[in-house]
Amino acid sequence: MAELIDGKQLAKTVNAQTKRAVTELKTRGVNPKLIVILVGEDKASQIYVRNKQRKAVQLGIISETTRLPEDVSQAELLKLIDQYNHDDTVNGVMVQSPLPRQIDEAAVTRAILPTKDVDGFNPENVGQLYSNSNLNFPVSCTPKGIMSMLKAYQVTLAGANAVIVGRSNIVGRPMAALLLNASATVTVVHSQTKDMRAYTRNADILIVATGIAHLIKGEDIKPGATVIDVGMNRDENGKLTGDVDFDSAEPVAGKITPVPGGVGPMTIATLMQQTVELTKWSE
Ligand code: NAD
Repeated sequence: MAELIDGKQLAKTVNAQTKRAVTELKTRGVNPKLIVILVGEDKASQIYVRNKQRKAVQLGIISETTRLPEDVSQAELLKLIDQYNHDDTVNGVMVQSPLPRQIDEAAVTRAILPTKDVDGFNPENVGQLYSNSNLNFPVSCTPKGIMSMLKAYQVTLAGANAVIVGRSNIVGRPMAALLLNASATVTVVHSQTKDMRAYTRNADILIVATGIAHLIKGEDIKPGATVIDVGMNRDENGKLTGDVDFDSAEPVAGKITPVPGGVGPMTIATLMQQTVELTKWSE
């Protein structure tokens, strides 16, 4: 039986640290502030944004959600971002995705000031990550949270064969850079990979972020491997389920994250942690 990597519990620990850091900042008259921009009426986005707002308030972070209509122009959105870029009371700015078709997502990520880029998507920050910079810079919260999980569960990274399934800008690519920076041997496989399972079966650390429910089964996993399931899919009953078939994977893996209660809570905890880090770095 695999050891369960309890993201929910670890998120509580991280959140408690963040809360203490916020209290300490406030005693010095510094009030961390996070702005979330929500465009349109996407139901899932509304839930994500509400959860972020709620967590921020619990931790003492000032959080404002700015709602824009579905048909907002790119120019209007960029103008709003620019206002927050110039607002000294704002420490973190993020735009919830997905965005409507008329908006160029890459232009939005470029527009957010790198020092307020709490999602870590600005190409300048991505460049810092890929060049293994020793400066302080924000990193995409899901892979950063996964690194915290691997550390907390004492997973050896240096020299490990790490395989990432999925190459998105939000998860797969920054995950690859973080693991490479930690001296793992990194392979990224994706929808065009020939014989993906030949790679996954050789992974000491397997990170799965595809959005395809139960893509990875027990037979695709090296015995004793650490398996991190990023997927958040709804099954036919509306229940949250991962990209890994937990029931067949759990007896094979050495350590494994559940869905829900794994990567999800750590992503939000890391977003809050990073809001505080940006606040401190800007002092
Ligand atoms: P994405 O759609 O941007 O990317 C999916 C990736 O999977 C692509 O790179 C694609 O090449 C790869 N892929 C698709 N089919 C494949 C196949 N058959 N074999 C191998 N690779 C395949 O997705 P994303 O934004 O990276 O998100 C992936 C999943 O993670 C989704 O379920 C999303 O909801 C979830 N997610 C969860 C969190 C969290 O906090 N828990 C955060 C971000 C994303």
